[in-house]
This record gives sequence, structure tokens and C-alpha cells, in this order.
Amino acid sequence: MITFLVALTAVFMPKVHPVYGPQHIHQQAIETRFEVIKKKHPARQAMVLDSTDAYWTAALEEVDKSPDEISAQANREAHLGVYLPKLIRGNPREKLLALTFDDGPHPIFTEKLLALLKQLDVKASFFVVGKMVERNPQLLKEIAADGHLVGNHTFSHVTLTKIPLNEVRAEYEACNDIVENTIGQRMRFCRPPGGDYDRQVVKAATEQGLTTVLWTDDPGDYASPGTHVIEMKTLSRMSNGGIILLHDGIQQTLDVLPQIIQYARAHGYRFVTVDELMNSLVPTMRYHPLHPVSAPLPDKPDTSAAPVLTHSIPPNRSKIDFIKKPA
Ligand SMILES: [Zn+2]
Repeated sequence: MITFLVALTAVFMPKVHPVYGPQHIHQQAIETRFEVIKKKHPARQAMVLDSTDAYWTAALEEVDKSPDEISAQANREAHLGVYLPKLIRGNPREKLLALTFDDGPHPIFTEKLLALLKQLDVKASFFVVGKMVERNPQLLKEIAADGHLVGNHTFSHVTLTKIPLNEVRAEYEACNDIVENTIGQRMRFCRPPGGDYDRQVVKAATEQGLTTVLWTDDPGDYASPGTHVIEMKTLSRMSNGGIILLHDGIQQTLDVLPQIIQYARAHGYRFVTVDELMNSLVPTMRYHPLHPVSAPLPDKPDTSAAPVLTHSIPPNRSKIDFIKKPA
């Protein structure tokens, strides 16, 4: 009977292609894994977000660049002879991966994520939003206490390519300051919201001793597309020196993380923070114009060109000013 039902399902179920992105060496393993998920959760649908969570409702509007768009931009820069130091990938000869979690700390999900990472014995990198740190300083302390890397994801989560250079500087600096005041750490890495950067955005970062970090793997978890979609997209892009973009604040990410980590480890990968990934680059790779695109960290932040800034972000200035102050 069961065999008959399975056969019937196989005939009538539309053929779903699980692999997003280019063909990849893990293709077969991914398809096998997808079949297992389909059998285990045949009716699994994308989770509907809680509409009362204003932060995440607005965060859905964020459109992150795809890994293809990121490498296309790096290729254009190389073609034009423009060198913008940034980290897109670690050493492509080493089986290292960095899990990165953006947009937190989140009042509901960060503690769950930290507990899960502890249980799985993984150190990750958290690109935090200054305004979220302002509202949840204790959670940032917990992230740091657990040994995760903390990176700068601006103060108010604006698209940096759409604001003037002095405001880009203020965004990074205001986030630097609140993080330093909270955990006494000077951050060394940053990530522009949406992965939107240009010459000025990278310049503002390097002036403050921040290396711009992008990604090689973007499963789109912020839109809660379903755990199987997040898993398949992540696995289909998994490759040496990869940087995986995830978000702090998504239940489906928590649900699927154990499987992703288990799969990666079974395929010989080790999880590291982005600084370790950066250190995996040998000197010739650090300046390679194409892939990976990266640069060594400056010894001392060069702030000579930066004007004196106040840290107050004018109200209603931010395009993505979605974090409402409590009434
Ligand atoms: Zn973000």
C-alpha cells in the first residue's frame, strides 16, 4: 500500500527542481537530501511571519544582492581597474565556512540562536545593527561572551549607496561607538545592508578600520521561504571559503541550522568566524582582483580624512528606519 502511494505521488507530484544557482559538485547529495525532506514534510509551507513584528515586516523589504550580482560587480571593478578591498570569500583551497547572522540582536531570537550555536559548537559572525544594540545591549554582551565575532551592520540599516558619504561615515561610526560602549570591543568587519556598496561606502569603512564583508551564499532566509528552500539554497552554494548570509530573527533559520551544519561537517567543512576566514587567505589571494576579492586589515584605522561627526542620526532620515522607538 505504502509503495503504491509513493509511486502515485511520484507520478502526480510536479517535478520540483531543488537547486538554485549554478550546477555544483554537491548536486547529487542535495537532490537526495531534498527527497528526504519531501518525504518527511510533504505539506510543509512557508511560515507566515507575525505581522505585529514591525522590525521583521520591514526587514522583508530588504533585498540582498545575490552572490552572482556580487561577483559580477567585483568583475566590473577589476575590468575598470578599480580596487575596492573587501572580503567575499576565504581561501578557496581550504574547507572553511563562515556563518554570518545579520540584523540583530533580536529580542526573541538571539538567545535561541546562541543556545543552538553553543549546542552545535559553532562560532559565527554577527553583523549587528546599532539601533538593535541600543534596544538590546544585554544580548550583544551575550553574543560576545559566547565567543562569536561582532561586525558592524550600520546604525539604522540604511542603503549606504543612497546617502551622502558623511552620513555613511556616521552610520558606521555610530554603530562602532554603541558596540564599543556595550562590550568594549572595536569591530574590524562591517557589512553594508543589502550588500550595496560603491567606492565611497568601502572608503568610509576602511577609514574606520573596517573590512567590508559580503557573501558567497544567500539562501534568502529573511523572507521565511520554508526550511527546505533555505536548506537547499545553502547547500547548493556550499563551497570552500564560503560566507553564508543568514539572519538573526528567523525561526526557520533556527529550524534548519542543525541540518546545514551536519551536512557541511559530513562533507569535511569546518566553521570559522570571518576573521579566521580572512586569515586563511595567502598574500597573493589578498590582492587578487577577481576571486577572492579581499585585503589585509589595516594596523591602525586611518581616520585622517574623516570629518568630525556627531553621532545623532536625524529622525526620519533613514530610508529603512523601521525600528520604532517604544512609545
Ligand atoms: Zn541587513
